[in-house]
Amino acid sequence: AAAALGHSVIPIVNKLQDIFAQLRNQSTIELPQVAVVGSQSSGKSSVLEALVGRDFLPRGSDICTRRPLVLQLLQIKRNNNNNDGNDEEWGEFLHHPGKRFHDFNEIRSEIQAETEREAGANKGVSDKQIRLKIFSPNVIDITLVDLPGITKVPVGDQPSDIEARIRTMIMSYIKLPSCLILAVTPANSDLANSDALQIAGSADPDGYRTIGVITKLDIMDRGTDARNFLLGKVIPLRLGYVGIVNRNQEDIMMNQSIKDALVAEEKFFCSRPVYNDLADRCGVPQLAKKLNQILVQHIKTLLPGLKSRISAALVSAAKEHASYGEITESKAGMGALVLNILSKYSEAFSSMIEGKNEEMSTS
Ligand code: GDP
Ligand code: MG
Repeated sequence: AAAALGHSVIPIVNKLQDIFAQLRNQSTIELPQVAVVGSQSSGKSSVLEALVGRDFLPRGSDICTRRPLVLQLLQIKRNNNNNDGNDEEWGEFLHHPGKRFHDFNEIRSEIQAETEREAGANKGVSDKQIRLKIFSPNVIDITLVDLPGITKVPVGDQPSDIEARIRTMIMSYIKLPSCLILAVTPANSDLANSDALQIAGSADPDGYRTIGVITKLDIMDRGTDARNFLLGKVIPLRLGYVGIVNRNQEDIMMNQSIKDALVAEEKFFCSRPVYNDLADRCGVPQLAKKLNQILVQHIKTLLPGLKSRISAALVSAAKEHASYGEITESKAGMGALVLNILSKYSEAFSSMIEGKNEEMSTS
């Protein structure tokens, strides 16, 4: 999907991964984890799905997400014989080792079944993770976490301290300094009472890693709009807000695709003059773009380490080369040559990222 998270970061990450692959002690770039927080039914699972560009999460008006879902996206190399866009993508659960789920509806059923196995069929919540890997040529290696929403009143089999339990569970993820927080608040509720912003604020008081996401712009009261939310006039946020329109329950029951949902969202924003001058903070593609920019920023902080690792490898290859004397055709000589090229490449690469960040990230 065009709006899928990572779309614009893929070329950068790919190039870096290529550099790493050439280095002697192999390592990869570690991207931060992204978690969604908010009250129940605020649209958290819908936001994650829209970012990934595939339908596979249980969503609904009731409590659907009852265990943390740790969703690891893993990039596989594109099959060159297959350029028709039908790239192979599949999911694998930790609790089903080796079994490939190619049907994303089946992935959703399995998440539901596995939720019930651990948390029962009667609205119970468990902090035991479900771990799902999605293999695809269209993603970057990043981990997304879908978390149960904050609820206040115990229902079904939920214990009386359900709110405290869920808060503790959410905090255990978002307190990590490497975790990006998507704080999801529906537009038809009071932002000043947002559970999402409250809990995100206690984990990240300075707001360096919290993005505000306002969902359900389509079902606000007549005569009201989300301008002041999006402009940060109600609650300021350092990284700002993005307003979103995802599928409602009827759209989901009618099997509206993510692609159609994105078209519908764009139509919504075009038809509402109040949002015309806020285009940079409206819509799933803008949220993906914002996340991508944060990821590029993060990658930038990793570059000095990458450079020094390349230089170290270069020095040791040069020494090895020298010890061979005149034999330039030797393996070591070739290694030094490759590393030389790589280090030039990496320099060019970092100046590219530093100088023309925007151009690079949208190519
Ligand atoms: P979660 O509990 O926070 O994960 O929320 P879900 O993603 O499961 O969504 C809860 C309900 O809200 C579902 O019925 C969705 O169809 C609906 N929903 C989510 N986002 C929107 C939106 O932007 N507009 C409308 N009208 N409904 C939405
Ligand atoms: Mg959910």
